[in-house]
Amino acid sequence: MMDFNFTGLSNLSAPTEEISVKVLILGSGPAGLAAALYAARADLEPVVLTGMELGGQVSLTHAVENYPGFPEGVGGNELVELFQKQAEKFGARIEFDTAVEVDLSQRPFRVKTYNVTYLAESLIITTGATPRHLDVPGEKALTGRGVSYCATCDGWFFKDKDIIVVGGGDSAVEEGLFLTRYAKSVTLVHRRDNLRAGQILQNQAKANQKMKFIWNSVVTEIIGKDSVEAIRVKDIPSEKEYVQPINGVFIFIGYSPNTQLFEGQLELDDKGYIKIGIQMKTNIPGVFAAGEVADPYYRQVITSAGMGAAAAIQASHFLYKV
Ligand code: NAP
Repeated sequence: MMDFNFTGLSNLSAPTEEISVKVLILGSGPAGLAAALYAARADLEPVVLTGMELGGQVSLTHAVENYPGFPEGVGGNELVELFQKQAEKFGARIEFDTAVEVDLSQRPFRVKTYNVTYLAESLIITTGATPRHLDVPGEKALTGRGVSYCATCDGWFFKDKDIIVVGGGDSAVEEGLFLTRYAKSVTLVHRRDNLRAGQILQNQAKANQKMKFIWNSVVTEIIGKDSVEAIRVKDIPSEKEYVQPINGVFIFIGYSPNTQLFEGQLELDDKGYIKIGIQMKTNIPGVFAAGEVADPYYRQVITSAGMGAAAAIQASHFLYKV
């Protein structure tokens, strides 16, 4: 049996009120929504705070081709909608709100949002990760003016233009391939001479007439007045720099976990990811983490969803004490 009083969710709309919940899930990507489904089916009436964006990174992905059950692939947005629908069917509540402060020093855990304060008997953190920046001159000033971190969002603006993609992992190659639908050319700049991306993506990229590669090179500056006009590229072996005219720069060089809110309260690794074991447990009993906020290795929709399910099962064990 659970050993806490639960006041129910009927007062969720009251802006200043404290709301008690059994399970609060921070984040609404595949991990958060899978956790919501499992927690709902365990009768825990979970509340999901979406964060700034329902669905997280996958909702910005044009097509997901490696999530089982969709042999023809599925749109990222569509997949998120299906996850949401299924979780809500069993009683999960999705709130378009963001946690701004957490106090994990005692139970119930206090989570302040823009609208209310939640008192959560158990917390599942699925706040995901954010694209990393190159941190070169021009990048910040030209973001949204030719510099982008999202091909699905911005690809359309580059019809018949020449684009640079920075990075050599799955994201860079996959998004680069997507951009060939619009662009005249997509040139991938990679700091080594072979790609980190999986073989199938590599084969597709190398077979695509619109894809070009600049190996062993880094972008050292993004140049432009009101929009991107060129990049400065450094050839690493020769250390020679040159300027290449270009219309757009898409940057896919990995992600940083969204864990700032938990610094000093949860154990993080040296890259800022939440430390968990196989049971998704953090160092604080009753606080679990799942998905990319705790996973620097796999970062797949299916692994994140699996971690979310596991976290909810553990939250259920924790609350029901079985
Ligand atoms: P990633 O695998 O970490 O690759 C990042 C790439 O950016 C690497 O090629 C890296 O170069 C390069 N890089 C890092 N910092 C750089 C810098 N400062 N300047 C220039 N280049 C830099 O990241 P990701 O591609 O976003 O993938 C993340 C995870 O998601 C991976 O596990 C991936 O498998 C997964 N993912 C899977 C799919 C799919 O299955 N369809 C799609 C997208 C992502 P080095 O190679 O030299 O380190």
